[in-house]
Amino acid sequence: MELRKDPITRSWVTAGYDEPVTAAPDVCPLCLSDENGAQPLLALPPSGPAQVRVISHPRPLYRIEGKTERVATGVYDRMTPVGAHEIIIESGDHSQSFAHMSDEQIERVLDACAIRMADLKRDTRFKYVSAFRNEGMAAGQEWPHPYSQVVATVFVPRRILYELRAAREWYADHERCVFCDILRQEEKSGKRVVDSQGDYVVFCPYASRLPYETWIMGRAHNHQYEAARSGANRGNLAGVLGRTLRRLEQVCQAYHLVIHTAPNSLQKKSSLREYWKTIAADYHWHIEILPIVPGRTKSYSLKETYFNDLLPEIAAEQLRQLNTQLPVPSNPRS
Ligand SMILES: [Zn+2]
Ligand SMILES: [Zn+2]
Ligand SMILES: [Zn+2]
Repeated sequence: MELRKDPITRSWVTAGYDEPVTAAPDVCPLCLSDENGAQPLLALPPSGPAQVRVISHPRPLYRIEGKTERVATGVYDRMTPVGAHEIIIESGDHSQSFAHMSDEQIERVLDACAIRMADLKRDTRFKYVSAFRNEGMAAGQEWPHPYSQVVATVFVPRRILYELRAAREWYADHERCVFCDILRQEEKSGKRVVDSQGDYVVFCPYASRLPYETWIMGRAHNHQYEAARSGANRGNLAGVLGRTLRRLEQVCQAYHLVIHTAPNSLQKKSSLREYWKTIAADYHWHIEILPIVPGRTKSYSLKETYFNDLLPEIAAEQLRQLNTQLPVPSNPRS
């Protein structure tokens, strides 16, 4: 496997696959990893029986060993896919649904994301660490067991680069964080706000790319998800996230969820160094949830332009009215 850079868009593509893809094993590898007693990278809570465990991905996209230098061939650049690829096993219960876990359990998963992101950022080879969750086969979920993933890369993903550049420009012009400005305006109008708890607000973004696209953002400015501000309460984030996912499962069976946080600022020699000057003030971490809605996937297959046939104001209105009780008493899917 190698990383290839598109010289025009500057995005990196992981190309090829080293290992032959064998048939799916009969035993769930995430259940198995619990039974074989292997030492996890992290177990929460720290004492007593583990409720959340982090392991290396059995077939990682990126590997921790190796050097990161680029090789240029004419206009093309490539690199070895050095990085890290980890699995957060969200429960010991194979058939548990993430949306239906208790707030405490969701908070443990959110804590595990933060701890692993902070730890991987100590490796100065890594420019970016992402945490994400793919729910449903249509979103690329590999095993039915509830899990999320943490990936550390030697490049900053393209979408993050767009956000970083835009946030930095907005800050240069206004001396304010664009995300704080967006959230203030959304709360003032209320049209696209779905829910809130403590400092966390859920809303459908103004230019939603997909039906029911949903973002979660904190009112208190912070560029790093993994470094919670004093007074930040991840329990409130867990509460609002659980309710949001219980709303979304009534309108879609699959989604991508991603935590967008600042890149690795320990990267001193990075080409991104110019960003570090204002990044603590100009960038703001947030969660994006991108649902895959059956019959409305047209927009998703055309990633260059988005055609969203559902106005976010209407999506927010619908989502506000959906049941968020634990457990949801009548699930239209069943
Ligand atoms: Zn399992
Ligand atoms: Zn902000
Ligand atoms: Zn984002």
